[in-house]
Amino acid sequence: MRKLALLTCLYAFFAHPNATGKWHYGEENIMGTNIEVQVWAEERDKGTAAIEIVFEQMNAVNQLMSPYLASSQLYAINTHAATRPVVVDEALFNVIENAVAFSELSEGAFDITFASVGFMYDYRARAKPSQESIDGALDAINYRHIVLDSTSRSISFLHPDVKIDLGGIAKGYAVDAAIEALAKMGIKHALVTAGGDTRLLGDRRGRPWIVGIRDPRNEDRQAVTLPLENIAISTSGDYERFFEEDGERYHHILSPKTGKSAYEVQSVSIIGPSSLTNDALSTTVFVMGVKAGISLINTLPDYEAIVLDNTRRLHYSNGLTQ
Ligand code: ADP
Ligand code: MG
Repeated sequence: MRKLALLTCLYAFFAHPNATGKWHYGEENIMGTNIEVQVWAEERDKGTAAIEIVFEQMNAVNQLMSPYLASSQLYAINTHAATRPVVVDEALFNVIENAVAFSELSEGAFDITFASVGFMYDYRARAKPSQESIDGALDAINYRHIVLDSTSRSISFLHPDVKIDLGGIAKGYAVDAAIEALAKMGIKHALVTAGGDTRLLGDRRGRPWIVGIRDPRNEDRQAVTLPLENIAISTSGDYERFFEEDGERYHHILSPKTGKSAYEVQSVSIIGPSSLTNDALSTTVFVMGVKAGISLINTLPDYEAIVLDNTRRLHYSNGLTQ
């Protein structure tokens, strides 16, 4: 028996000369954001394939859900859903269905129709809509304008000016899809990050992963560092896309009520098992602010929050303080 095991071992060694067992790294820019992958693989080919599969998943999500690509299904929704139902792939339908569920959970703080006004901002060009333009478009922000028909798997809008954008949830979905693909390949230790959304598969081989939450006002400083394993964390910050004018900060997380940037906090991190949920909740709590936001998280048993308010004080959900 022992001899057989030894032979098997030797065979495995000689049959797989590339059996190095090491960390594989990958980095690419997809979905307008930085994607980082770390994977432990016993064999080099498997490590390379694992990195590739992650980028494939991210590219597929971008092709389907980008608001800028004229060939994406999201673009088709924004172009046609006010006049006819638009049939979409299951993945996109599910993400929109989830987005609407987070709107209901948050009484509209999370709302993908924010884009009806959101598309009038161009942060790179330092352009913002006038109060008059905001007032004219504010009616279109309401998730109740979205009709999901699960039988035909189609989306339609009840208001002529509705636009949707999945920037607050699609990266989380993509990270989940990537981690699930890695797990299916037999990978046991991995990190996948897309912008502010990170999910960890297993630990870092005997040690936890160390994940930092950056200081929103200092790129080179961490506000908090956390040892984590087999879980996900998402951070929403007012520093990702913004410009300043007359002492005011115009950034990419909007209150659906006002069509303007939410201002009560600087950064929100959510820790929990699903990256899609973390992503949506980090944007949600950012809009809701410290008190209402943390109260919401305290009703969700698997999710925790770390919030840095606009006076730079840290606040934690119950699970992190008790
Ligand atoms: P990022 O990692 O891009 O900073 P966040 O998770 O912080 O993403 O979400 C910000 C994005 O969410 C914005 O760029 C926008 O696309 C979208 N968004 C902004 N406000 C809302 C809102 N009230 N509800 C849903 N999505 C929003
Ligand atoms: Mg988010």
